Amino acid sequence: MGKLDGRVVIVTGAARGQGEQEARLFTAEGARVVVADVLDEQGEALAKEIGATYVHLDVGREDDWQAAVAAAKDAHGHVDGLVNNAGILRFNSLLDTPLDEFMRVVQVNQVGCFLGIRAVAPEMADGGTIVNTASYTGLTGMAAVGSYAATKHAVIGLTRVAALELAGRGIRVNAVCPGAIDTAMSNPARLDPDADLQETAKGLDRLYRKLVPLGRVGQPEEVARLALFLTSEDSSYITGQPFVIDGGWLAGVSII
Ligand code: NAD
Repeated sequence: MGKLDGRVVIVTGAARGQGEQEARLFTAEGARVVVADVLDEQGEALAKEIGATYVHLDVGREDDWQAAVAAAKDAHGHVDGLVNNAGILRFNSLLDTPLDEFMRVVQVNQVGCFLGIRAVAPEMADGGTIVNTASYTGLTGMAAVGSYAATKHAVIGLTRVAALELAGRGIRVNAVCPGAIDTAMSNPARLDPDADLQETAKGLDRLYRKLVPLGRVGQPEEVARLALFLTSEDSSYITGQPFVIDGGWLAGVSII
C-alpha cells in the first residue's frame, strides 16, 4: 500500500529540483502525478520515465492553468492534490531592483500560487490537499533577495487564508519553507555540464557548515518527504501551517 494510492496530484515546476523529487516520490507512493513545467523537454522525459502525465504550464498564466486542470481531469477523471512548487529567484538589493524584475518574481511565485489554488480547489473533493512552496525567507529576511522574500511571505499568507476558506470542504492547505536546498536554484553549477559537482558540493558544505546548525545543505529528496507527509493522510489534522525544513537555520544564532 502506498501513502497516495488512487490520488491524482499536480506538481508544478516538476521538471527538475524539488518538484522532480516530489513527482518521483509521489509516484512511488501510488499517486498518478501530473508533471507541470515550462521546461517541456525535461518535463516530458521525466513523465515518460515515471509513468506520469506531462503538461506545459506557466504558473503565472491563467489560461495555462485552465488547460492543465482540464488535461489532468481528461487523463485521470479527478484531481486530489496540488503542490505549488514552481518558483524563481533573482538576486538584487531592493534599491537596485528594476520594477519588471520585481513583478516577474511576483508573477511566478505569488500569482502562480494564487492561480493554482483558484484553478484546482474547485475541482477537489473532501480530502483534497494543497502544498505551497514558500521558503525560509517567507519567515525571515535575507539581504539581496527582496523580491523573492516578499513573494514567499505572501505565499504563507495565501496558505493561511486558503486553509480557512477551504476547511469547510475538507481541503487542507499547508506550506513548506525550505532553507538552502541543493538544486539549480541555490547551486547553479547543476546547470553547467562542465562543472565539478563534487567540488561545488564541498564549497556549499563549507558555507552551510557555518550558517546551518546541522552543518550541511538540504537535499531535494528531504523536501519531497515533507511534501508527501502534507499530501497524505499522515497529516490529516493539520492545515494552515508553514513547515520549516532548514537544518535548524531559523532556530537562531549560535554564539558558542
Ligand atoms: P529549480 O530552479 O531547480 O526548480 C524550479 C522549477 O520551477 C524548474 O523546473 C522551473 O522550470 C520551474 N518554473 C520556473 N518558472 C516557472 C513557471 N513560470 N511556470 C512553471 N514552472 C516554472 O529550484 P528548486 O529549488 O527545485 O525550487 C523549487 C521551489 O522551492 C521554488 O518555489 C523555490 O522558490 C523553492 N525554494 C528553493 C530553495 C533552494 O534553496 N533551492 C529554498 C527555499 C525555497
